[in-house]
Amino acid sequence: MSELRKDPTRAQWVLVRPRGAVAPDAGDCPFCPGNEAGTPPEIAAYRKDGSAPNSAGWQVRVIPEIDPYFRVEWDLVREGVGMYDKVSPRGAGELIIESPAHEDTPATMGSEKLERVLWMYRDRLEDLKRDTKIRDILVTRRHRKAGARLRHPYSRVTAIPVIYDDLRRELRESREYYQYKRRCLFCDILRQELSDHDRVVHLTPFFLTVVPYAARSPFETWILPRQHACAYETLSAEAGADLARLLSGYFGALASGLGDPAFDLSLHTAPNINSKILQGEWGTINDDYHWHLEIVVHPERANRVGGIFINETPPEEAARRLREAWR
Ligand SMILES: [Zn+2]
Ligand SMILES: [Zn+2]
Repeated sequence: MSELRKDPTRAQWVLVRPRGAVAPDAGDCPFCPGNEAGTPPEIAAYRKDGSAPNSAGWQVRVIPEIDPYFRVEWDLVREGVGMYDKVSPRGAGELIIESPAHEDTPATMGSEKLERVLWMYRDRLEDLKRDTKIRDILVTRRHRKAGARLRHPYSRVTAIPVIYDDLRRELRESREYYQYKRRCLFCDILRQELSDHDRVVHLTPFFLTVVPYAARSPFETWILPRQHACAYETLSAEAGADLARLLSGYFGALASGLGDPAFDLSLHTAPNINSKILQGEWGTINDDYHWHLEIVVHPERANRVGGIFINETPPEEAARRLREAWR
């Protein structure tokens, strides 16, 4: 049986689980149209032609992970084990198959397909947040992951009964900044970056693309909505189309200008505020947190000593090279 255990010295969660089953190598790609029977039944799909679930004809398709770390069927149990904390891994693991085309990549998909994927992110977040046992949901997108067996483009959604350690740290910093200054930390970063300008990569009507001041790895990139909002689900139709065009340009710049590096994209958005454990929890989140995208380029090259990242490409230089590659 799997369980989440908390390391009290680091305040970090660890999922302890039996070794996962390895899906047999079927040969044919199970994510390609026509092979729907080779995956678990779909959770959601966009189908323009009104085709039946679990058949071809979809544009974006969501399926459960075959051997998920977190499952909806499990009961949510929080318990103390002596001085320690343990939580059952009640949650969900889903894969968003981004396109019927096996050979599509983020750089070649184009903004229309990317936009559909962005709306599916929103739909899955909205749906999963109805489940009050789910505390937090992470949407990630990996490109050229070392050792990956499946080339077919997909994103991963992982919903869990606790707050992710990284997000908890970010939420705490944002809240403390807000308590002290009565301003949103990320809105202040936006203003600072627009005034410094040397780390700005691209500016659109709705988003700022920037290499963060203390980028942890070369070409780390943040995409910040220029209008304050704590949750991605509130994305407007215009902003969604703008973001899809921006991502298409950014992925194209990486592919054509920087040699198509591996990257990890993650969506940082408000946790499930319908799931309250403590009184007053999330009291100021609407004002103190600001959703955004973070992209780590060359994650395999991230280098650190005792937790301090070593970055040998100054963020200002990385931003300049990304700007040049964008054309
Ligand atoms: Zn495929
Ligand atoms: Zn803000």
